[in-house]
Amino acid sequence: MRVQKGVVKQMAAKFSEIFKKWMYVGLPLLAVVVVLAVIFACSSATKPVFTLASQDEGADANQAAAESNQPPADANEGPRDPNGEKIARPTHKHPAFGERVEERARMVVRQIKGRQVRDPNVLKAMRTVPRHAFVRFSEQRYAYADYPLPIDEDQTISQPYIVAFMTETLKLRPNSKVLEIGTGSGYQAAVCAEIAREVYTIEIIKALAESARKRLKKLGYPNVFVRAGDGFFGWAEKAPYDAIIGTAAAGRVPPPLLEQLKPGGQMILPVEGAFGFQHLVVLTKDKKGKITQKNVMPVRFVPMTGEVTKPEKKSKK
Ligand code: SAH
Repeated sequence: MRVQKGVVKQMAAKFSEIFKKWMYVGLPLLAVVVVLAVIFACSSATKPVFTLASQDEGADANQAAAESNQPPADANEGPRDPNGEKIARPTHKHPAFGERVEERARMVVRQIKGRQVRDPNVLKAMRTVPRHAFVRFSEQRYAYADYPLPIDEDQTISQPYIVAFMTETLKLRPNSKVLEIGTGSGYQAAVCAEIAREVYTIEIIKALAESARKRLKKLGYPNVFVRAGDGFFGWAEKAPYDAIIGTAAAGRVPPPLLEQLKPGGQMILPVEGAFGFQHLVVLTKDKKGKITQKNVMPVRFVPMTGEVTKPEKKSKK
């Protein structure tokens, strides 16, 4: 009996020893494992799929997450151009799409993803559109650099990041209809046309409108429609638009553009305030037609000319 008691005592002592060890080593270890598991579970639940691609600069893993831009299966449905013809998707057959692909991929990783632009459709569009085909030969070597570039008629093509940021703000979908004010080279319109169904773009300088129209045709953008004219008045025949983007700065938002924005739509444009400071302004129209507006970023754009420069009372709108 005494022997048994001794054994029990010994076992109890052993257990308490093991328990103490667990208290000081095992339990903290267990706690660390639990915390790590919780962190892992949370991050994989909230992290967008496309961040995986950042492990490899050239990786196109996020392309899988991009929404399909193929036209609807029913051949009779789908978008139509101003003459009632069916609207096709960008063809990507021009050789420029196969040129400088790695530079574009690097530009997207460093300048665009690196600054938190996340929409996989926007990243894909920025990787696809050959920016060098939208600038003069002398500027082509800088086409993927982190700054704006001069185009003809003393105008500029925005920094790639600004193009991507503005496009993301528009929340484009494959069936969106977009209006752009300030065609310039046609680059921003092409980026939108990669995602949206159709893009209507207005340029006040005739020569630029003409060259952009030719360029977009040559590059294979049958879903971009260019008009020479004053963008202040918008493009009423094709309204309402899911998204409106302005790429020239004005002191006020042209009222016709607000009218032509669809309820639930987004508009982004640079607006000039006191002392010539400009901000990108995002305007949203809710389902009841109520407009809300917020400044999102200080910027520097070329001025919007035409009707918007007239004093408000004398202006036609
Ligand atoms: N989005 C262009 C860059 C535009 S620069 C691109 O991607 O290349 C701004 C353009 O707006 C200029 O070409 C300028 O001529 C044009 N612009 C200025 N005022 C305008 C107006 N009232 N209506 C239409 N275009 C205008």
